[in-house]
Amino acid sequence: MATSRPRVVVIGAGFAGMHCVRRLKNEPVDVTVVDRGTSHLFQPLLYQCATGLLSEGAISSPVRHLTRRHKNLDVVLGEASAIDVDARELTVDRIDGSSFHLAYDYLVVAAGMRTAYRGNEDFAAHAPGMKTLDDALSIRRKIMAAFEMAETITDPDEQRSWLTFAVAGGGPTGVELAGQIREVATLALEREFDAIDPAQARVLLLHGGDRVLPSFSARLSASAQRTLDELGVETHLGVHVTGVGEDHVETTRKADGDKQTYPARTTLWTTGVEAVPFATTLARALGAEQDRGGRIPVAADLSVPGHPDVFVCGDMSSYRDLPGVAEVAMQGGRHAGAVIAETVAGQTDRSPFKYRDLGTAAYIARRHAIVQSGPLQLSGFLGWVAWGVIHIAFLAGVRNRMGTVMTWGATLLTDSRRERAITYGDPETARQPYGQ
Ligand SMILES: Cc1cc2nc3c(=O)[nH]c(=O)nc-3n(C[C@H](O)[C@H](O)[C@H](O)COP(=O)(O)OP(=O)(O)OC[C@H]3O[C@@H](n4cnc5c(N)ncnc54)[C@H](O)[C@@H]3O)c2cc1C
Repeated sequence: MATSRPRVVVIGAGFAGMHCVRRLKNEPVDVTVVDRGTSHLFQPLLYQCATGLLSEGAISSPVRHLTRRHKNLDVVLGEASAIDVDARELTVDRIDGSSFHLAYDYLVVAAGMRTAYRGNEDFAAHAPGMKTLDDALSIRRKIMAAFEMAETITDPDEQRSWLTFAVAGGGPTGVELAGQIREVATLALEREFDAIDPAQARVLLLHGGDRVLPSFSARLSASAQRTLDELGVETHLGVHVTGVGEDHVETTRKADGDKQTYPARTTLWTTGVEAVPFATTLARALGAEQDRGGRIPVAADLSVPGHPDVFVCGDMSSYRDLPGVAEVAMQGGRHAGAVIAETVAGQTDRSPFKYRDLGTAAYIARRHAIVQSGPLQLSGFLGWVAWGVIHIAFLAGVRNRMGTVMTWGATLLTDSRRERAITYGDPETARQPYGQ
């Protein structure tokens, strides 16, 4: 690699980071992409991994493999932990805890968000969120272990609490998880247990708003609610989750403060996100003020005001109230890459980021999804077909696309879910087989 060329360091191999490095593939720059994991993760299908439908390999692709034809790119497994803005140097922690420095001429930070408990950090021990592959595998472990526990327990109350699953948050992730757990219970596990009837599993969807999926139109939200009702998901609207323990979840009704406690061994948390810790490190170093979710405000070219060499894009950035969705991240990453390429080529005027809204989609149940794109609103079977096409189109790698289509087809034909392997794992954690 030539050393005289501008060095671009990209933090995060998510949607924004990967689209940025792709844009820079044939430019006269040397690129290093740093990520805490070895794979690019397709978060929109995490819930299918968490519920045993898809493998972790199907929803993630090794960054090294995806970028094997990029001649100007280095891949680093590491966590960005500190930055010296004046020296233009990043500190990266290796997986063994040691660290090293990376110099940059341009820095693109696309490190995403993590689950937020907003003052209820103690809930995290019992109610995992769903942002990473580890989260999905831990949720899968909890769900599958809960059915196994219920099978060997004779006390009916205890058995019932193992068969009660609470999902906090009625946005797309909460709705998708709740629906999938009911499908696991009623279809995949239907004839596999002796002492319990998995279909008796109770799934509580606990949501603070007055309708699920508030980012979709009222009509699509109502259609999704009907499907959830048919699936047997118990939706509780207008409630906040105010307590989570090993064996229960507590809600408080917003209208009158009425409290309700449900015995439930599995609670999953999907109510909010906040920027990853590096966002605060970066904001302090740059003198930038983070918004409420910890996002960093950026200028029209996606650089941080006053720092034309530092770009923030994807979920971690705050620009014109754009939502934290994959399409914003992909287009933003591409734009940051384009601005760097143009600047390196000598262009002084930087083009502003123009977001093209292609719409959003959410899976509700088998043969039912909703899609909203401008005036177009699809639900039911048509929505489901459109949802499938969109997700396959954006999944990275031909092999993952083909494998996912085949797995979906097999699941439709046989109802089975094969990604359900759990073990006691490490002897140190053997006493917590349901994955705390
Ligand atoms: C369960 C779920 C379902 C979703 N469904 C949809 C959907 O249906 N449609 C849609 O449009 N959007 C969906 N989203 C949102 C979408 O996935 C995000 O908007 C998108 O992933 C944001 O991309 P990003 O590149 O900003 O961040 P990410 O994709 O989160 O990538 C950030 C990367 O940064 C890495 N990283 C973090 N900190 C560091 C550090 N300090 N050093 C090095 N690397 C670091 C992480 O490992 C990660 O790879 C969903 C999200 C979730 C969690």
